[in-house]
Amino acid sequence: MSVRQLRALEIAVIVLLAAAPLYVGAFRITLLNYVGVYALAALGLVLLTGIGGMVSMGQAAFVGIAAYATAWATTVGGYSPWIGLVLALVLTALAAAAIGITTLRLGGHFLALSTVAWGLSIYYLFGNLTELGRFTGISGIPPVSIGAFSLMSSTRMFYLIWGVAIAALFLAHNLLDSREGRAMRVLRGGNTLTESLGIGAFRVKLITFVIAALLAALSGWLYAHLGRFVAPGPFDVNVGIDYLMMAMVGGATELLGAVVGSGLVTFLKNSIQDFLPLIAKGAAGQLEIVAFSVLFIIFLQYARSGIVPFLERWLPRPQPKLPAQARPLERRSKPAPSTPLLRVEGAVRRFGGLVAVDKVSFDLAAGEILGLIGPNGAGKSTMFNLLTGALHLDAGRIRFLDRQISGLAPRHIARAGIARTFQHVRIRPRMTLLDNVLLGTYPRTRAGFIAGALRLDRGEEARARQEALTQLARVGLGDRPFELAGNLPLGNQRLLEIARALAADPVLLVLDEPAAGLRRQEKQALAELLRTLRTEHMTILLVEHDMEFVMGLVDRIVVMNFGSKLCEGTPSQVRGDVRVQDAYLGSAA
Ligand code: ADP
Ligand code: MG
Repeated sequence: MSVRQLRALEIAVIVLLAAAPLYVGAFRITLLNYVGVYALAALGLVLLTGIGGMVSMGQAAFVGIAAYATAWATTVGGYSPWIGLVLALVLTALAAAAIGITTLRLGGHFLALSTVAWGLSIYYLFGNLTELGRFTGISGIPPVSIGAFSLMSSTRMFYLIWGVAIAALFLAHNLLDSREGRAMRVLRGGNTLTESLGIGAFRVKLITFVIAALLAALSGWLYAHLGRFVAPGPFDVNVGIDYLMMAMVGGATELLGAVVGSGLVTFLKNSIQDFLPLIAKGAAGQLEIVAFSVLFIIFLQYARSGIVPFLERWLPRPQPKLPAQARPLERRSKPAPSTPLLRVEGAVRRFGGLVAVDKVSFDLAAGEILGLIGPNGAGKSTMFNLLTGALHLDAGRIRFLDRQISGLAPRHIARAGIARTFQHVRIRPRMTLLDNVLLGTYPRTRAGFIAGALRLDRGEEARARQEALTQLARVGLGDRPFELAGNLPLGNQRLLEIARALAADPVLLVLDEPAAGLRRQEKQALAELLRTLRTEHMTILLVEHDMEFVMGLVDRIVVMNFGSKLCEGTPSQVRGDVRVQDAYLGSAA
């Protein structure tokens, strides 16, 4: 399917939706209104949970803060719903920022549990504040009006709700296809990966959390003026779980999953309500939850990733056009060949009683390729992690380009010009090759969240794409930039990681066991690439277990064993050294 056909399909769906009041009864329009309202809250969860990997069961609380804010402003305060909207957005953003700052550093399950905690407390807050009508709530909320035109009827609200929903989808779609959107999509790859790309993981998480809350706020504002009444019930944690379910059923990794999930859950709940009283008189309320849970469990068995990704497997993926030529991104000035670049002095790192790196010192000059080798457990990866900031030093220091980098956070070290790859490849399998490599350009570009959502970043984006395509071609993967990275064999994933590192325009490239797990042919392709980089005077530190692999590639070798530096020299010197032979034989024995 071409991009143009996809656009045509989108327009057809929007037209069909816009004409819905002509062929759908009033009751169904009301249902559709709620589908749109819930879809906005679920869309926030798609961004937060599906894309950003942060599970929240507290989304309903943000819907509630906004709904109560506008309810209070328009009834007690007597202000217009538009003032209510501003108040709703501001209050929700402030609450989300406060909650986010205190909880987002918690990992995995703890974060999810904390969302239950604040979700519940906000619910009880609504129920206990006299100003907010306690558990009776606030009624008599006025309809939204545009000038003298009042959106009193369900059909008029329909256009407002779906207008907002479609605009939100559109902006979110743009955002995900931009610099900060890619940063959001890399979060699930873990903090180590995110920070190694020069991205502030906490900052991106916090902003994603606030964006998700703002979508909930839009939902809450619409909800309050649609039903014209608010009470604490719809903002409880179990409704938060419903939103999470909508996102999951629809497909939490896809924006449209929010709409499909909200539609399915809303219509299904409605039909279960119609149907259950026929078989179970009286207990229908509880049975509804049971029936729904059963359906959900069946769903988890058969279409775990959700409906939209499930359907997408059968649809051809749109093939975007390659970008037009653009001016290349600025490159950083590189130190002249042979000037000192990196100096490691007396680096020490202990793990409990084990000294994994023991007073290791070495230098690296610009344009040089240095191999750091040693048997398994020698401390190479630990040394590597000290260098990239993933671990902190217990003693010693590391200077890079006239600057002390020991003690800096990994993202600052990345920004200083050290790009890394991982011993166990870390790419984003559901992103295209192009998007994976574009991640590398993050520190070289500037566009923010708003610029991305509004497509004000196209000039810079074209330049970044150009760079990414160049690097893809450089590693030999330039022929299919829109392939999903997860479809590549391991060897090519390694090359992709190197392309991503190169896209950062590094001064120093550090590779952790790039040949590990590769087949012979793949190793050859990798060696070929490293030789090309060498002719381009790229400075490389190669951490490697396989001695033969580095021999033909590097200028100099540092050998580590049991955490200490064993010796240092040219490949032939090292090869002839009996201590090295002993170390390797010792480890093989
Ligand atoms: P290499 O990469 O040379 O194979 P590593 O740097 O991974 O070696 O490991 C060096 C030593 O430090 C090993 O004995 C390893 O078990 C230990 N080690 C590495 N990381 C940790 C850690 N996070 N906690 C405890 N011990 C560790
Ligand atoms: Mg290692």
